[in-house]
Amino acid sequence: MRVVLSVVLALPLAFAACKSSEPVAKKCEGCDKMKASNGWCDGCSKGFADGKEVKCKSCHAAMTGAGGWCESCNKGYMAGKETTHKCCAEAAAKGVPCPT
Ligand SMILES: [Zn+2]
Ligand SMILES: [Zn+2]
Ligand SMILES: [Zn+2]
Repeated sequence: MRVVLSVVLALPLAFAACKSSEPVAKKCEGCDKMKASNGWCDGCSKGFADGKEVKCKSCHAAMTGAGGWCESCNKGYMAGKETTHKCCAEAAAKGVPCPT
C-alpha cells in the first residue's frame, strides 16, 4: 500500500519535471524489485515470472505459485508450467494430484 501511495504522490512532480524529450519508457522501482523476485507491480499492473513480463494478474499468481487456472485467459499453470487442462491446474493449486 505504501508503495502505491508514494507513486500517486510522486506523479504530479514527475510530470512537472518531465520535458518533452523524455523517453517514453519510464523506469519503475517496483518493477525492478518484482523482476528479481517474480512479483507483481501494482503501480504498473504487470508482473514478472523468470524475467518475463506477465500482464494478467491471475495468470501471474498461478505461474509463480503452485498452480491455478485463469478463466479470462482460458489457460492454467501447474508447477510453473503452462497447461490447457483445467483439472490439472486446479489440482496443482490445491497441492493434490489430478483426479482425472
Ligand atoms: Zn512497475
Ligand atoms: Zn490470465
Ligand atoms: Zn488433469
